[in-house]
Amino acid sequence: MVCSALGWFGCYGFNRMVHNHTSYPKNSLFKSRQDISYSQEEYFSNGFVYSTGSECASYCPKCALEDVDRVGFSYWRRTKCASINICVKHNVVMRRNCPFCGKLFSYEGHDLDVMWNGCDGRHLSQASAIPNTNEFEYKKAKFINDAFGCEYVVCIEAALLAINAKYISDREITRLGARSPSQFRSDMRHAIEKLSTWRDHNNGAFLGVHSSLVWMYAPLLYDDFSDFIKDIRPSIMAFRDVKSLWAAYRSGGRESAEYIEEDYQTGVGLWSCPYQSDLAPLWRTALEARKNKIYPCCNLEANSGATSRSARHVSRPPPSVPLIRGCDW
Ligand SMILES: [Zn+2]
Ligand SMILES: [Zn+2]
Repeated sequence: MVCSALGWFGCYGFNRMVHNHTSYPKNSLFKSRQDISYSQEEYFSNGFVYSTGSECASYCPKCALEDVDRVGFSYWRRTKCASINICVKHNVVMRRNCPFCGKLFSYEGHDLDVMWNGCDGRHLSQASAIPNTNEFEYKKAKFINDAFGCEYVVCIEAALLAINAKYISDREITRLGARSPSQFRSDMRHAIEKLSTWRDHNNGAFLGVHSSLVWMYAPLLYDDFSDFIKDIRPSIMAFRDVKSLWAAYRSGGRESAEYIEEDYQTGVGLWSCPYQSDLAPLWRTALEARKNKIYPCCNLEANSGATSRSARHVSRPPPSVPLIRGCDW
């Protein structure tokens, strides 16, 4: 619905929205190079919750005050992932509960309207800001902030290999607050071996697995996100332009992942199974059936609660083509 209001149609518009305005990059920035979609099947499923029902929102009072001065109102930023505790711009603690009544900004506390309606006659920007004194929390928040602005999707294997190859003493791991040194080494070894095996079998069942290890360890080991990126070997497909994945979504398959890539010039989706797995090969007849079917794409009007699969098919003129060129965001 938000995408439609913005004129960002189709899978491309959906992914553009979740990449730039939600915390979804945490799920998609590091992924298998065999995944040709940005957000798997999220485009037509409800697997990922984008509201505050699942986790608390938070805000920075200084940002809210600046917003009011600048544009006349304040707004929520995409800091819902629990690991962002600091506003990088102001180096103050993000507030997760109302400074006036103590309610959490969540489904069971204040809903998001409190940003505009205020609480008991007071606006959230009137709250005092709490300076941050935790150096690592700032570093971690900056790492995530910078990563969310990344223009590339990074191969998860390449990312973990870089982390694993980085020299760090057992004492340092402990000092940095990681779990035990042996757990760190074990986590890395296990994940790299698994990813390699799954890739050898084209096993699409685990394309998004182990990215949490990157988020857990990279902020500990590197000064900032750019240092981390520099440490990743530029092997084949280590870095892919994030926009190159926005038009495709996963349409099915478990081990043999199937995709639909929307073609905004013709208005149809192109089916493919680029990494057919020996664990679950597709039958030739099934392949032909899928290839020959016409999949409507960006001209679906996904409103009134209808999913993209069941939504009414509506022809749109060429200007609705959501191929964004030369756009900053
Ligand atoms: Zn701020
Ligand atoms: Zn309140």
